[in-house]
Amino acid sequence: MSLRPFLGLVPLGHVDLLVLQHLCTAITEFLSLPVRILPPRPLPPHTYHLPRNQYDSTRLLEYLLSESHDEAFRVLGITAVDLCIPIFTFVFGEAQLDGKAAIISTLRPGGGADNIKPRQPIFLERLVKLSLHELGHTFNLPHCRREGCLMGFAANLEILDQKNIELCEYCRILLADYFNTVSDL
Ligand SMILES: [Zn+2]
Ligand SMILES: [Zn+2]
Repeated sequence: MSLRPFLGLVPLGHVDLLVLQHLCTAITEFLSLPVRILPPRPLPPHTYHLPRNQYDSTRLLEYLLSESHDEAFRVLGITAVDLCIPIFTFVFGEAQLDGKAAIISTLRPGGGADNIKPRQPIFLERLVKLSLHELGHTFNLPHCRREGCLMGFAANLEILDQKNIELCEYCRILLADYFNTVSDL
């Protein structure tokens, strides 16, 4: 007999408890999976990219995996710092396609890049969209071009705000197929 698998939320550095609790509830509802908030981890200095004053998203993802909770079948790292990868000036998040780990940053959804602070419900909604989008990649969903779909690529906040907290019909089928073929879920 094994414990029911869960999805773990891992704060990387300081993250507001309210944000974690909101994501915990929203992800549980959307994916019908148990979600737990795991103990926070410090941001490792080697993931800091001094020339850009940002954190290397890919390295943070690797760190998250190396430190990840064995019992969690997925881990979502959440951080308040700005993330980047070499080819983009910033990323909202990153994930391993059909892998265990994903990561999101709360900085830009909170208006941290341009000092335009959104209302709290908008901020939280952005984080839910980003979390579910990146987790979608870990469930092998690629980017989708159907209008409003959660798996659409969002290059900026405007596009993110136009998305629904909903998968298109096609992505819903792909996700259901994925869960059906993964025996331990
Ligand atoms: Zn994506
Ligand atoms: Zn879709």
